[in-house]
Order: sequence, then structure tokens, then C-alpha cells
Amino acid sequence: MKTKASNEVLLEFPSRSSNESFARAAVACFAAQLDPTLNELEDIKTAASEAVTNAIVHAYPDSIGKVQVKIRVCPGNVLEVTVKDHGRGIPDVDKARQPMFTTGGEERSGMGFTIMESFMDKLTVRSVTGRGTSVSMRKKLVPRLKTGK
Ligand code: ATP
Ligand code: MG
Repeated sequence: MKTKASNEVLLEFPSRSSNESFARAAVACFAAQLDPTLNELEDIKTAASEAVTNAIVHAYPDSIGKVQVKIRVCPGNVLEVTVKDHGRGIPDVDKARQPMFTTGGEERSGMGFTIMESFMDKLTVRSVTGRGTSVSMRKKLVPRLKTGK
């Protein structure tokens, strides 16, 4: 079941590689409201950028398509980032999630999903061949005590 978000934003952009750094920075800006540590922020940025890169590189290998990034603040100080495309889809998600599995040839190391999984608390991948892919990841940020100053 979908949890209720107290705040959310939806970005949509064409699958151009120049938009990878934009998406990474936008996710970090939105996440800032949860007062993350620098380490938490780095983890979120890295995981989000892996998912966006996948949408840019794999979803639309020979064309430009739409990429959507939704960022939500959920109860319990949880940040959720969902990256969605309407590209070619993943035929076998379990296989694609294995470390070092890649269809990208020598340029790719096949570690994107493994990085997302280890830097975030939960990773959900839904995909339909020929229809597209949705990658959703959640991370609980440790609430920090505010000093009086
Ligand atoms: P790396 O991320 O290390 O550069 P990679 O992208 O191949 O390499 P993963 O990110 O783990 O590795 O992805 C594994 C495989 O899953 C990809 O090679 C590709 O076949 C498939 N894949 C991932 N995301 C998508 C997507 N959005 N659309 C279609 N296929 C995808
Ligand atoms: Mg990848």
C-alpha cells in the first residue's frame, strides 16, 4: 500500500545525459528539508543518480524518452525516490538486480542496482517489457536533535 506523503515533488525531463546531474542535484535539494547528514545525502544522491542513469542509458537506447522522478517525504522521516520510464523494460528483474549483471557491454559494470540496494533501505523494481520500468527506493533518515542555538 502506498504511504501518505507529507510533501512531494514530481520532475519530468527527456532522457538526455545532461539531465542526470540536474536530477541528482534536485533530489538533494528536496531531501535537504529532512536535515540529512552529509553521508545520508551522498547515499541518496548516488542511488538516485544510478536509477536516473539507467533510465537514460538502458530504457531508451536509441531514442529520447520521458523520465519522471518523484521525491516524497513519508511518515517516520522516510525519503522515497521513484524513477520511472516508459522505455523497453527489463525482461528478468531478479537477474538484472544481481551484482555484475549488465547488458551494457564493457562500459558498464552491472553494479547500479547493487549500489541502490546498499545505499538505501529498500529497493522495489517493477518492469514490463516494452512498457517501462519503475524503480522506487526508500531511506529512513536519522532524526537529529536540534541545539538551542
Ligand atoms: P552500471 O550501473 O554499473 O553502469 P548497469 O547499468 O548495466 O551498469 P545496473 O544498473 O545494475 O547495471 O542494471 C543492470 C541491468 O538492468 C542493465 O544492464 C540493463 O540491462 C537493465 N536495466 C536497468 N535499468 C533499466 C531500465 N530503466 N530500463 C531497461 N533496462 C534496465
Ligand atoms: Mg546502471
